[in-house]
Amino acid sequence: MTILVTGGAGYIGSHFVCLALSKGMKLVILDNFDNSSAQVLKAIADVTGVAPDFVEGDVRDKALLTRVMTEKQVESVVHFAGHKAVGESTQNPLKYYDNNVYGSVVLLQAMAECGVRKLVFSSSATVYGVPEFNPYTEDHRKKPFNPYGQSKSMVEDIMEDACRADPGLAMMALRYFNPIGAHPSGKLGEDPKGIPNNLMPYITKVAVGELKSLGVFGDDYDTVDGTGVRDYIHVMDLAEGHIRALEYLSAHSGYEAVNLGAGHGYSVLQVIQAFESVNGVAIPYDVKPRRDGDLAAYWADASKALRLLNWKTRLTIDDMVRDSWVWQSENPGGYGA
Ligand code: NAD
Ligand code: UDP
Repeated sequence: MTILVTGGAGYIGSHFVCLALSKGMKLVILDNFDNSSAQVLKAIADVTGVAPDFVEGDVRDKALLTRVMTEKQVESVVHFAGHKAVGESTQNPLKYYDNNVYGSVVLLQAMAECGVRKLVFSSSATVYGVPEFNPYTEDHRKKPFNPYGQSKSMVEDIMEDACRADPGLAMMALRYFNPIGAHPSGKLGEDPKGIPNNLMPYITKVAVGELKSLGVFGDDYDTVDGTGVRDYIHVMDLAEGHIRALEYLSAHSGYEAVNLGAGHGYSVLQVIQAFESVNGVAIPYDVKPRRDGDLAAYWADASKALRLLNWKTRLTIDDMVRDSWVWQSENPGGYGA
């Protein structure tokens, strides 16, 4: 039986695919290369020794989905495909509701038509919004404050309603905290187009000399050193969380939302310090004004993941900054080079 991996050529999806293939799992990737390239498939084959089964296409194409599900005998879906830029979602909300929400509805419809009952979905800690308390538990109220977060929260609600209506369904929303790091082989990693929005890809572009200096967005937050605190998680730990989620869904029906985070946070300056000391590379930075919409600090209560999935993070911030740097320094131009 096969796992359909939507968005499997993307940053997180490709790491999940490598891990799943290395465990002998059977899968098919569906991706439209909106934010990735065919080079990723070569890297996956290189690392695992298996050329992944791949279909180029869009999750909003129901006829294609039903054909793939039927032909490949799909039993479960891991749904990574979607847009993820918070700022862009504020400028162009309909693009996000179309791809992230409508795309997920089409996927659920195709699953219903084909009798596919298990779904793991890439959600985000952004569904919580301004923390009422820290760490966030899964029952922290949801109040996202941008269309991207709203789109994730809406898909969660749709999944929950679908499970309520059909008790035979088994679905899990995984709320990721801040995924960074790269495959330990150095052959796969994050390859954002243009100037990165996120901290770690920005740091590695400074380290490799492509960007001059990192802007630290605010040093006057009520945190350990005034800079923003986030719960960083190694992308390989995150990938393992999806394997555990699939195992859980093979034995349980209904809907669950589960945080995937380390359960503690690091400030921007702490991440820079870790990067510099582990990799021996200086990261020049300038303190800039706070970024619009940024929160001071949040991290995960990861106890539900341990209880339900027997999962917790194993890799440290040192592993994350090392693997991010190995990927970037060995592939200065990303997959294009
Ligand atoms: P990514 O952009 O690297 O990967 C997404 C993949 O989906 C890309 O390969 C893209 O080409 C593909 N895709 C997009 N729309 C598609 C469509 N309509 N049909 C088929 N393929 C499509 O992003 P990522 O960082 O790997 O994130 C994966 C998922 O995890 C996303 O849903 C994202 O919102 C979610 N997430 C990411 C983070 C993060 O920090 N990276 C945090 C929380 C949640
Ligand atoms: N950040 C920063 N400079 C950057 C990018 C991010 O100081 O160029 C900070 C940001 O303000 C936040 C942390 O790094 O405190 C993580 O930001 P990222 O965009 O990676 O994740 P998010 O805040 O969206 O969870």
